[in-house]
Amino acid sequence: MNSLRPSVPSPRPPRWPARIAARLPSASQTAKALAFVALVAAGAWTAYRYAERAETSAIIERAAHRLDVDESTLKGELTRYDYLPALLSLNPDIAELLRHPTDPALISRVNRYLADVTTDSQAAAIYVLDLSGTTLAASNWNQSVSFVGQNFSYRPYFIDALHSGTGRFYGLGSTSRLPGYFYAARIGEGGRVLGVVATKISLDPIEALWKRGDETVLVADANGVVFLTSFPGWKYRTLHPLSAAARARIDTKRQYQGPGALEAIGLVRRRLLAPNAEIDAVSAPNPLAASPGRNGIERRTDFVVVSRRVSGTDWRIMSMTEIAPARKSARYAALVAALALSLATIGTLYLVQRRKVIAQRLAMRETLERMNDELERKVTRRTGALARANNSLRSEIAEHKRTEATLKSTLEELVQAGKMALIGQMSAGITHELNQPLAALRTLSDNALLFLQRGRPEEAENNLRVIGGLIERMGKITAQLRRFSRKAPAELAPVAVERALANALFLVELRLRKENVEVVRHAPEPPSAYSEWFVLADANRLEQVLVNLFANALDAMLESPVRQLSITMRTDDADDAFVDIVVADTGPGISDAVRARLFEPFFTTKPPGAGLGLGLAISAGIVRELGGTLKADAPSPAGGASFTLRLRRATEPGRTDETTGPRPTDTNRTGTDDADKEPR
Ligand code: ADP
Repeated sequence: MNSLRPSVPSPRPPRWPARIAARLPSASQTAKALAFVALVAAGAWTAYRYAERAETSAIIERAAHRLDVDESTLKGELTRYDYLPALLSLNPDIAELLRHPTDPALISRVNRYLADVTTDSQAAAIYVLDLSGTTLAASNWNQSVSFVGQNFSYRPYFIDALHSGTGRFYGLGSTSRLPGYFYAARIGEGGRVLGVVATKISLDPIEALWKRGDETVLVADANGVVFLTSFPGWKYRTLHPLSAAARARIDTKRQYQGPGALEAIGLVRRRLLAPNAEIDAVSAPNPLAASPGRNGIERRTDFVVVSRRVSGTDWRIMSMTEIAPARKSARYAALVAALALSLATIGTLYLVQRRKVIAQRLAMRETLERMNDELERKVTRRTGALARANNSLRSEIAEHKRTEATLKSTLEELVQAGKMALIGQMSAGITHELNQPLAALRTLSDNALLFLQRGRPEEAENNLRVIGGLIERMGKITAQLRRFSRKAPAELAPVAVERALANALFLVELRLRKENVEVVRHAPEPPSAYSEWFVLADANRLEQVLVNLFANALDAMLESPVRQLSITMRTDDADDAFVDIVVADTGPGISDAVRARLFEPFFTTKPPGAGLGLGLAISAGIVRELGGTLKADAPSPAGGASFTLRLRRATEPGRTDETTGPRPTDTNRTGTDDADKEPR
């Protein structure tokens, strides 16, 4: 079963792809383009009209000049024979003939006379007609086309001459069929009209002259029939269609006959340019289409026609000039104008655009300069701030350095003070240590004196030897004290650990002995290339730290039943970079509360006079200066306190390090240093 499905909305008509749409001109661009086209078209049209007008004006002017010449030529020809009738009337034979028209001798004389005058005057024919219009004598009496006996009473020139004295007419000869201009004058005697003398003039020379020229010139009669023309095709044709009456009248006079005679040329006025000038169109045939060498395709041709009346006649003489060349040059002018306008418009647009671009660039440059100035101002501000910060940093650094120097000297003072405090603590023991041999010295020297007095020099010598040993030991103690108390800045150098330990133990040796403390030492074998372990330290400072640790351990063990001071040397398993010296005791250990404040200056749990609380603080400072660490180890189940002093390992002076040597093995060395034991 078909269910009605919901109608799917038809997809929207496809829009222009964005890229094509972006390329389409905007409305304002289209308007501008249209305005541009309109401007160019208007300019071209104006140029065309102007050029056409100028060209036609020139044509009209040229044609007017030509018509002046042509008209005067024609009129000259027409009036050339006006004298003839008067001349002929002077001949008594002519009047005589008109009175006696049948006198053969007279006829013959007049015929010859007329033939002579015709030859002299170059007229086509001269003849005498009686009142009935019959030709009595003629210059062509002896030719086949002789007028003698012919009646011309129907010809207008005869009628006009009879009635008004003179008659003029242009038409085909009724006998010769040759065209000509007829001029007739009445001949009378004593107020009585006797007859008419007529002259026929050929206008062929004029026509031939016009044909030789370039222009189309024509003469039309009052009916508009073209009878003189430089273009043969138009001969006897009419400018405009003739009415039937006019045609009948012409036929009566037998004026124009022949093929195509009296047919209309079809001249249509298109535009009036001036009173006597107009543009006419000719459809066909026209002078160009019918001229030799041209095909006969009918086409409309426009002419500039300039015409005027031939004075003294009812004829019009006309000049016709084809307008096409003028229009062609007008078209060129229009083209040039269009191009010039286009160029000018494009040039203007270019200049406008350029000005815009320059203005934009200037604006951009100004903005950039402004931003640059702003940036420079900011940089100057920041630089000032930086310079100030730099100065204050410099002064801070200088201050820091001063503080550091002060601290350093303070630390040195402190170290020295700590050292003095240690010596102070040990002074009782030292005094005792010195007093004992002093007392022994006294006894030994007294005894030596007695032995000498008693003659026992061997015993005296023996005593003196012991005295020397005691003096040496006392010197050693004082030398050690002097060395320990020396105040000198710390200098990092490789220090032999064993030597430092021995010196430190020497200074607390009396206490060790007196307080019955056992010293237990653990040290691994030094690397095979070394005689012993070296650390990077200052020997004097290292000894101070060790003495401090030993003294603290001894203090702690005063109440302990078991007194053992253990000194263990270790190296870092990973890379042998450090050496650890662990000092442990069997004292009560360090409580958490004390551990927290162990390295604070002036922290002490000892009774007044027994401790200043500076020992560990100073020791930690010294170790830090040496690049090592000092810390109290975590409490061990065995009890007692343990401190680990870590220092950087150093190479033995004059040797290169040997890290690939065999690992040192731990050895257990117990007891005090035997080297320190002196004979008593
Ligand atoms: P002083 O020895 O003058 O008291 P120290 O800075 O050397 O100053 O020691 C500070 C305190 O640390 C001691 O008073 C003591 O309480 C504690 N102390 C130091 N070494 C030990 C130790 N080996 N065993 C127990 N307590 C110790």
